[in-house]
Amino acid sequence: MLVRTLVLFGLSTMSSSSSNLELAKTGCKQVNLDSKVARSLVATGSTKRATTEILKKLSQAGMLKGIVIDETNERSLKRKLTEAASGHSNVNTPYGPIVQFMELGIPGCEHLEFVNPFAFLYYLSAISAGFAEMMKSICVPGRPLRIIIYADGLEPGNPFRHDLARHLMSIYWCIADWPQYVLQRSFAWPVFSIIRTKFLNQLEGGLGRLMSMILRIFFKSKDHSFSTGVHINCPTGDYVITAIFAGFLADLVGHKEITEWKGHGGLFCCLTCSSVRNMLWGTPHGLQVNTNCHKRKKFIIRKNEDVFKIVDDLHRDFMRLGKKTTPFKNKERDEGFTYTPGGLLLDKEIRDVYKPVDHCIRDWQHIVCQDGVANTHVYNLFEHGLKEKCGIDIKQVQEFSQICKYPSNWGKLDESALDEKRLKKGATIASFSSTILTIVTVVMMFLEKFVKECVPDHFDAFQMLYHIVGILRMGAEDAMRHVETLKILIADHMAACVRLYGTYVKPKGHHMFHIVEGMLWVGRLLSCFVTERKHREIKQCSVNVYRHFEHTVLSDVVTQAFEQILDGHDVYTEEFLICPKEVTLSFIAFRAANRCVTRVGIISAGDLIINSVGDVGKVVKVFQRVCDDLIFLEVDAYPCVDGQVSCRSIDRQYRDFFVSKSIIDVLIWYFDSPAIIRFSVPAALL
Ligand SMILES: [Zn+2]
Repeated sequence: MLVRTLVLFGLSTMSSSSSNLELAKTGCKQVNLDSKVARSLVATGSTKRATTEILKKLSQAGMLKGIVIDETNERSLKRKLTEAASGHSNVNTPYGPIVQFMELGIPGCEHLEFVNPFAFLYYLSAISAGFAEMMKSICVPGRPLRIIIYADGLEPGNPFRHDLARHLMSIYWCIADWPQYVLQRSFAWPVFSIIRTKFLNQLEGGLGRLMSMILRIFFKSKDHSFSTGVHINCPTGDYVITAIFAGFLADLVGHKEITEWKGHGGLFCCLTCSSVRNMLWGTPHGLQVNTNCHKRKKFIIRKNEDVFKIVDDLHRDFMRLGKKTTPFKNKERDEGFTYTPGGLLLDKEIRDVYKPVDHCIRDWQHIVCQDGVANTHVYNLFEHGLKEKCGIDIKQVQEFSQICKYPSNWGKLDESALDEKRLKKGATIASFSSTILTIVTVVMMFLEKFVKECVPDHFDAFQMLYHIVGILRMGAEDAMRHVETLKILIADHMAACVRLYGTYVKPKGHHMFHIVEGMLWVGRLLSCFVTERKHREIKQCSVNVYRHFEHTVLSDVVTQAFEQILDGHDVYTEEFLICPKEVTLSFIAFRAANRCVTRVGIISAGDLIINSVGDVGKVVKVFQRVCDDLIFLEVDAYPCVDGQVSCRSIDRQYRDFFVSKSIIDVLIWYFDSPAIIRFSVPAALL
């Protein structure tokens, strides 16, 4: 396939011939390192200096067959690695090179490099048959695909640096129609561009302006656009895809920066609802409600046109009153938007593509797990439920957490995660987003075991949170089956929390309602868990870069992405075994392994799994039938005790096999007695 691609593009990277000439001129000895090997070396994420040093040492030790690296050709090696790093970026396609640039006109960043999405799809489909087939499988004639654009800030290196000079904005995108397993793999989200925030701040209109430029590239360019169609290479027949814009995925701060909305700290803390007020700004009047309102019919939902009218009126008032006058500032506050010349909302030419209300996709990770609704609820339960009503403090839950058994991919919950120092004054428990998900399950099991009867109302409220988190965790497609249940749970959960823990609700509590709207609009549940994993790749590429920052980091990221795809055979396969061995059982060929990737994530031998009919078993081995790739897991199955789904007998265990597609969750559990284990029934069985 690669050979075909090379022929297809008449491929030679743009820089190689000129650099060879230069080397010839300087008389430097050339190193005979294969360019494919050079590309995979730079894709490891090590610095060029480190790679050169390692190769030099190996060469001196005589461990590199036929390759000599010493002082005479060290420069040649470094140059080769530099060329390899930009190899993929310079590939030419009918849509131009992979990496192109747009004019920003900012001193220090006159041109911003970006990965052209059409060239990216064309090239990726040429080098990965798996990607091309996957894309074909999601195409429905007459229905355009839907594109999501994501933006978030990140800090490579020292986050405490006073000037945040290296702080950057990374922009990724995805096609919402991709299957769940693709959407949840970080490598699959293409990087569009990265830019240091210090440059972005100099751009009139800021991130919103950059977004309007990006939307133009995606959908309004005269030469190529998703509206007119993009060519996809495919071994079973090439085809053309079209796509429309489906929204921005960002945390609430990101949405504020993109749209010029005042943000969730403003008086009107929701972009969608004109009637919902931040509780820190005093009492509502008329038809207004506070963020603690759980009745959807009281939310006055704005239309996209309403938002455009607000900013157009602000523009008129600005011309009349001037930006710094008090009447104008009051107007901005009361409307909930900041007048931003050059911003996205005032760009009238893009209004046929961009719909501010529809396209504001809330990310559930930030709303629920990052100082979010789950953190607040866990805090309130400990401080105002368990402590006040039953005399139980966090230490007892901490002890319980240490006897629980965890899925190997999650790892054991660290003891410090439930340290009392983590309970903070702002009614929250400090934790990483992924940790709070584990904490919710552990606390749920604790409540079921010890205090269900003592505080039934607190138990019911927490069970709602457990089910909400359980549904959200299911993933982009699977969560959609429970969207109506989720809608009811979110409203009931807020009502219960207000009843039990006081009337104050943070704006994030209100934004929970709009997670559901985003799901219904996109047809998928998207979150930032995957993009935050992607940030790690960007950080890894940027931590040691000081010169030509945007260019170098983007080249490295692009190289890593394509090399990963060229290397991996299974990257676009939904389920596969990890490090399998061939075995033959009863004359049938199988692959066998101790670990596999399934729809619910990585499963390892020793994990407790549950399937869609409520059967539970501990994984012994994983098999895949070679003839049809069917994966099934050999388990020690545990039958129910007294008809209780959550209580299982180990004494009466028997050997069984679960088909991988039937598995709905990997469980956290504990020994209730030497012969009986317990867990909480997952939301997937609702
Ligand atoms: Zn709202």
